[in-house]
Amino acid sequence: MTTQPLMNTYGRQALSFDRGEGAWLYDTNGNKYFDTVSGIAVCGLGHSHPAVTKAISDQAGKLIHCSNLYTIPLQNTLAEQLCKVSGLKKAFFCNSGAEANEAAIKLARLYGHKKGKTSPAIIVMENSFHGRTLATLSATGNRKVQAGFEPLLKGFVRAPFNSLQALETIAKSNPDIVAILMEPVQGEGGVTPVNPEYFAKVRELCTKNDWLLMLDEVQTGNGRTGAYFAYQRLGVEPDVVTTAKGLGNGFPIGACLAGSKAEDVFTPGSHGSTFGGNPLACAAALSVIDTIEAERLASRANVLGTRLLEAFKEQFAGAKYIRDIRGLGLMIGIEMTDPCPELVALAKTQGLLINVTSDRVIRLLPPLIISDEEADHLVTSVSQLIKIYAGDDRKKPR
Ligand SMILES: *Cc1c(COP(=O)(O)O)cnc(C)c1O
Repeated sequence: MTTQPLMNTYGRQALSFDRGEGAWLYDTNGNKYFDTVSGIAVCGLGHSHPAVTKAISDQAGKLIHCSNLYTIPLQNTLAEQLCKVSGLKKAFFCNSGAEANEAAIKLARLYGHKKGKTSPAIIVMENSFHGRTLATLSATGNRKVQAGFEPLLKGFVRAPFNSLQALETIAKSNPDIVAILMEPVQGEGGVTPVNPEYFAKVRELCTKNDWLLMLDEVQTGNGRTGAYFAYQRLGVEPDVVTTAKGLGNGFPIGACLAGSKAEDVFTPGSHGSTFGGNPLACAAALSVIDTIEAERLASRANVLGTRLLEAFKEQFAGAKYIRDIRGLGLMIGIEMTDPCPELVALAKTQGLLINVTSDRVIRLLPPLIISDEEADHLVTSVSQLIKIYAGDDRKKPR
């Protein structure tokens, strides 16, 4: 193997796993790692969860795919379950987060056209991330994701995150707006939660202007942030919600959910997906929702999140190399004062898998099923790692 056969889309680490169990991954040399990445907020139930393994293997032996030309009972059941946990009315299924957002963007445009707006526009946020397809990278608020792919798709108007005034200014000056698309906690953008008062006002502004409030819960959903969806913790009711990552615990599936204002926008022919909502994907997702509900993993994520945040704040009280520690549920960001990409490789030598986003934010997304002991292990090992890296040899507070 002299030439690398893969397109050069990822700066990959020289590390391969062949087995996972709960929060632990085992590399091909048998070394064990504590996983705080969870495949980037995907494996919320941990690796090799028996309920998911069983659902996938049982369904694979019956029927994997048959096309949306036919009625798929498991898809109806999954839609019912998602409507039940979300309080929304209807679901569309696809295979990824970007596709779920594509569905929401198309839905918003169609919603606008139906109201006679021939050039509908969607407000999107600075520092947001919505995916890598042309529409979703155009919606994304990160130049690195867009650079080289111009011309970008028109129809997006950008606003600073958490600024109500910016939204009010746009509302006054732009009659083409039909929707706002935003993340309740910006994930790739550095684990930045929405300000709750601002969020409530965004809802009011959308209602007043007849705009759709569309939430990208691709990363924040499926129990991760301490409720099934983050908006439920924040007490805001959206019109459209997208999700994906944690929904299949590793099996690819995405969903776009709509409430009463948007449930009937799509009609036969307006949108579709060959693979979306196939029996196998739906069986996997159903087992995930069942497990999250039966084991109350969302409230567990809430409890664990508070415990971890408090522990990290205590560990780093007064540390000058830490700028901020924040998060919601089991989505935690430790922001350093300086870029810290080297931390990922250093962590690996300590049997720890971490992710660094936005150059200097250590993003922790452990599985929701970790025990109290594993949560303590996470705090100890991540804190020790950061202290070694920062050259901090102060005596521990305790
Ligand atoms: C990961 C992510 C996406 C894109 O999901 P893919 O499955 O990679 O297409 C979109 N939005 C948010 C908030 C994400 O975190």
